[in-house]
Amino acid sequence: MISIAQQKLSLNTIETLLKEINPEVSSILNKILDGKNNLTQGDALKLFQTTGLDLQALLLTANFIRKQTKDDIVTFVINRNINFTNICIAHCKFCAFSVNPSDSEAFFLPDAEIVKRAKEAVKLGATEVCIQGGLAPNLDIFSYSKIITLLKKELPDLHIHGFSPMEVFYGAEKAGISIREGLQILKEAGLNSMPGTAAEILIDEIRQKICPYKINVKTWIKIVKFAHKLGIPTSSTIMYGHIDSIEHRVTHLQILKDIQKETHGFTEFVPLPFMYWNTKIFKEGNAAPGSTGIDDLKMYAIARLFFNKLINNIQVSWVKLGPKFAQIALDAGCNDFGGTLMDENISKAAGASYGEYLPAHEIIRIIKNAGRIPAQRDTVYNILKIFS
Ligand code: SF4
Repeated sequence: MISIAQQKLSLNTIETLLKEINPEVSSILNKILDGKNNLTQGDALKLFQTTGLDLQALLLTANFIRKQTKDDIVTFVINRNINFTNICIAHCKFCAFSVNPSDSEAFFLPDAEIVKRAKEAVKLGATEVCIQGGLAPNLDIFSYSKIITLLKKELPDLHIHGFSPMEVFYGAEKAGISIREGLQILKEAGLNSMPGTAAEILIDEIRQKICPYKINVKTWIKIVKFAHKLGIPTSSTIMYGHIDSIEHRVTHLQILKDIQKETHGFTEFVPLPFMYWNTKIFKEGNAAPGSTGIDDLKMYAIARLFFNKLINNIQVSWVKLGPKFAQIALDAGCNDFGGTLMDENISKAAGASYGEYLPAHEIIRIIKNAGRIPAQRDTVYNILKIFS
C-alpha cells in the first residue's frame, strides 16, 4: 500500500491545484476526494468539457483515486483472441473486419484449428482465450457451445471468455430458444465469462445509424443482466469517437453504472476508441476520425471517478492506443493493461497499425517504466504473479 506520507503529498498537490481552477470543476473533484461516490451525469458532462488546468486537475484526481483503490499495481492477462470467422451478415458501418460468405477473404476456422490455437496459447502461458466471430449464416447457439465443449475437453483449466451479447442473441434466435436458455447452454458447456462488447454506444438513435442490425439498448442490457445473474461475469466497453457526442458517452456510462449497482457482474471497463481508417462510415464522410488523445485521457479519468468503487478496473487498450500512449494513459486513472492477445484481427482490419501481439515481457517493461508494479492476473482479476 502507498504510505500515508505519499498520499498526503499528492493530495496536497491536488488540493492546491483545485483552488486555482474553475470552481464548478473543483467542487465536483472535491466531492470525490471527500469520499463521496455520487457523481451525476451533469458532473460527468462538465468533466468531459475540461481543458487546461481543469483537465490537469481531473487527471491528477483520477490517478489519486486509482492509487487509493488499486495501489500501484498494473495488471495484465496472458491471453489469445480467436476470431473464428469473419463472415457476418450484420454489416455494421464501423466494422472493417466482416465480409460476405462469397468474399475471397472469408474464413471459418475449423474446430481443430481453434483447439490448436488455444493449445499454442496455453504453451505460451495463456490463462484465457477470447472467442468471438462474425454472425455467419450457419451459426447458432449450439455451434458456440460445441466450440466451448471442445476446448474444455482438451484444456479444462483454460478460461473461456467468449461470445458477445449480440452473438448470444443471434445464436439463441437461430436455435429458436430464449436468450436465457441460450446463456444457460453456454454456461453448462463451460463458458466462464463474456466480453461486454456489441455495446458500442448504448443509444438507440446512434445504433440505428452505425449498426442497424444490432440488438437495441434494452436487449443488450437484458442479456448482460441475465448473464450476470447466471454467474457469468462480463467486461464492459464503450466505442466512441465516431458520430457520438459527450452527452451520449455520459448516458452510456450511466447505463453501465446502473447495471453494476444491480448485478456487480462487470469485471472491468474498457474504453475502445473508434478505429476509423478502413471503415465504411468514415470513408463515406459520415463519422469523425476517431477520438483525440485528450478525449481518450478524459474517458479514462472520468470512468475512474464516475464508477468509483463500483467498477474498479479501468483498462487501457494498447491495440487501439498503441503501447506508448497506453503507457501514458495509465496515469489517467487506469490500472490494467489488457491482454497479450497474440492474434487481434478486428482493430487490424480497421487500420490500426499496432501489433497483434505484445509479449508479457514487453508489457512488464512498459509498466515498470511508468513507475508502476506489473502483475499477471487471470480474467476475473485474481493476481497470479507480481513482477516487483
Ligand atoms: S462488428 Fe461484429 S456484428 Fe458488426 S459487422 Fe463486424 S463482426 Fe459483424
